[in-house]
Amino acid sequence: MKTIGILGGMSAASTQIYYRELCELTRKRLGGLHSPELLIRSLDFARIEELQMRGHWDAAGVILNKEAKSLEKGGADLIVLATNTMHKLASQMMNGVGIPLLHLADATAQAISLRGLRSPGLMATAFTMEQAFYTERLKAAGLTPLIPNDKDRADVHRIIYEELCKDVTTTESRAIYVGIAERLVAEGADSIILGCTEVGMLLNESNVSVPVFDTTLIHCATALDQALA
Ligand code: GLU
Repeated sequence: MKTIGILGGMSAASTQIYYRELCELTRKRLGGLHSPELLIRSLDFARIEELQMRGHWDAAGVILNKEAKSLEKGGADLIVLATNTMHKLASQMMNGVGIPLLHLADATAQAISLRGLRSPGLMATAFTMEQAFYTERLKAAGLTPLIPNDKDRADVHRIIYEELCKDVTTTESRAIYVGIAERLVAEGADSIILGCTEVGMLLNESNVSVPVFDTTLIHCATALDQALA
């Protein structure tokens, strides 16, 4: 089994889900006392969020690059960057790193295409929804992503940073998220991408009327496929 290097803490709330999910999937696939070979580096998200808010992406990229190199040195065979947003910095992060990055947008696009779907609604941070680095990658894979309207994007973003990243889930926010997902469906979305690693804390197949693609769960399953290949 290969060692999966997780660069997480963005936020810690979702890195915990990665760990639990990878352990469960490994138990299911291999049985017995099997558990995944992991190297988890969990960063202080306050430091990263401040750089995001100030637009100091280059400084954040320097941090990610240093951490990716440490994961490689520590024995990781592949890297999972446990946040959609920070994939904005994927190439800077992987500069000089010799092990592969399992890109979250690619894994998600592949899962959607395999189901024969084409027009996913994207619920994510404002950075992921509004900047090109993520939607262009989905488009390059043949998909036509839909993003929420201005007010809905602001709500999705606010709830991620003010609640989900602090491990807080509320009935009110779940209802707001369900409403946003259903408005995307009404506009033509044939599926919904939970395009932020914490969004699965509020939405899943049971409260959305179309297929849901949870990037955290997709990332874990794809990483384990590669670790066991
Ligand atoms: N975990 C989030 C994501 O998947 C947001 C936190 C971050 O900005 O890294 O985009």
